[in-house]
Amino acid sequence: MERILDVKNLKVSYHTYAGEVQSVRGVDFYLNKGETLAVVGESGCGKSVTAKSIMRLIQTPGEIKQDSEILFDGKDLAKLSEKELREIRGSEISMIFQDPMTSLNPTMTIGKQIAESLIIHRGMSKHEALAEAAKMLKLVNIPNAEKRVKQYPHEFSGGMRQRAMIAIALACNPKILIADEPTTALDVTIQAQIMDLIGDLQNKLGTAVILITHDLGVVADSAHRIQVMYAGKIIERGTTDEIFYNPQHPYTWALLQSVPRLDTGHKDSLYSIKGTPPDLLKPPVGCPFASRCEYAMPICKEAMPEITKMTENHEVSCWLKHPLAPKVEKSLAGGAK
Ligand code: SF4
Repeated sequence: MERILDVKNLKVSYHTYAGEVQSVRGVDFYLNKGETLAVVGESGCGKSVTAKSIMRLIQTPGEIKQDSEILFDGKDLAKLSEKELREIRGSEISMIFQDPMTSLNPTMTIGKQIAESLIIHRGMSKHEALAEAAKMLKLVNIPNAEKRVKQYPHEFSGGMRQRAMIAIALACNPKILIADEPTTALDVTIQAQIMDLIGDLQNKLGTAVILITHDLGVVADSAHRIQVMYAGKIIERGTTDEIFYNPQHPYTWALLQSVPRLDTGHKDSLYSIKGTPPDLLKPPVGCPFASRCEYAMPICKEAMPEITKMTENHEVSCWLKHPLAPKVEKSLAGGAK
């Protein structure tokens, strides 16, 4: 499979009055052409910050640290100038957000908003771009597209606005679409339709998708691979089957227990993970999940578990799975001896 994105040692911090909040702490991952990678975790785990970093949308007081690399198409996006980035954003890499109302311009027709990037990035005339905008609205299953292109965002329903956002994002046929909680603000039926739509368009256009979500249930049918983030780090990753049928990290187990299921037959209330994530002003030296983990051992608070490779794609960062755990525990217990 051809890799189109390689993120290496991504670190992002926010400089606050209280000190440096280390939101993303040395994250490595890749994306293959045409695949869907889901990035899953609770709010504040660093998943949205990771997504925004790829587009270099981190604003002051945030900062992508110097040794981070975001390799795309032979370029390191972390090092490009703002002018060079503008040529890539919306053309090669696009993003859709949770709430289309905050991303759409309320004073511009939907058609003009789709046409804008076609005029800038594809050099189309206004007339050509508006005709293409109507085609894009048809592609995202908006009925009466010729009439709808002349309407404003407030004339669209929530689901239609999200479809329009997808049309804007895909107008220039980008290589990567980043979807940050694209269905969270929508009701369940519309959520399923939007996820199906993203999948259909991905098949038609060959776009690779990074899907950011707090809800593992949303990605079960759509992602090829899943990476689970916690406290600014990737703590487990694998194929969707590996994460759903053979999860290895206690946090992934807890996330899976909080997904509603139709097949169990009992009416248990949903599991919620007790406690709160660590303060990233002073990240713990050991496993960041230790204070909430039912399986925590003394070693867990003392040292961060290295990645353990379970299969070619499946990796986990947990002392329960680490072959050196007994040795390290012994040396910690024995001090310098
Ligand atoms: Fe729990 Fe320890 Fe594994 Fe962290 S390293 S998840 S605390 S068992």
